[in-house]
Order: sequence, then C-alpha cells, then structure tokens
Amino acid sequence: MPESSQEDTGTRPIWRSTGRGTLCRCPNCGTGRLFNGYLEQVSACPECGEPLAEFNAGLLLPLAVGLLVVLLFAVIFLVIELNGGVSPGTYLAILLPTSAIASLLALRPSKGALIGLMWALRTSDELQR
Ligand SMILES: [Zn+2]
Repeated sequence: MPESSQEDTGTRPIWRSTGRGTLCRCPNCGTGRLFNGYLEQVSACPECGEPLAEFNAGLLLPLAVGLLVVLLFAVIFLVIELNGGVSPGTYLAILLPTSAIASLLALRPSKGALIGLMWALRTSDELQR
C-alpha cells in the first residue's frame, strides 16, 4: 500500500481501516501485525506504535461470525435446493463440519475487521466506561 505508515492526520477511512483489519494488519499503517497468536490482540502496533489494546471486539465477534456463517449456509442450501435437494441426513452431514470449519476460518479476519472498524470510528473501551 502506498500510504506512509507514520502519519496520523486524524482521518481514519472506514473501508481502508476495516480492510486492513480483515487482513490481520494494523488499521493505521497496514503493515504491523494485529495478532500475536491465533486471536490474541497486540497491545500496540509493532510497526507504528499505534495503541490497539483499547479496541475490544468483545461480544460483537461471535455475532459477526454467526451472521457470516448463517449467510454462507443460506447460499449453500439455496444452491442445493435449486439443484434438486438432498436428504435431511445429508444436510446435517454437510452442516456440522462445514459450520465448524467456516467459523474457525472467519474468526480471525472478523475480529481484525471489527478492530479496524472500531479504530476508524474511535469507539474504544474508554467511551463505554
Ligand atoms: Zn501500525
């Protein structure tokens, strides 16, 4: 990305910040890592030093992941039904493993996107106390 990583002009574009978060990158500079492990959030960006610990996705995270997975299955089931449908047992055999895998895959980018969005909107924990 061509933007300079050090400047903080005060503008925080929502789509750019959310996109960087989705890629698990710092919403400010786009290069620093957002997570230490799978979901452990860094307290500050290792590249630009932007404090990120105050942006806590909290209970929005399971809501966002649940919504994504439900939307995914609505599309999958619609396609299956439009092509003749399958038995309820087959649906269950598709639903159980795929929902677990899809949730695990969506968790990290969803948390990153929420952190990026909260950073852009400046909705930190401080405001909620
Ligand atoms: Zn950064």
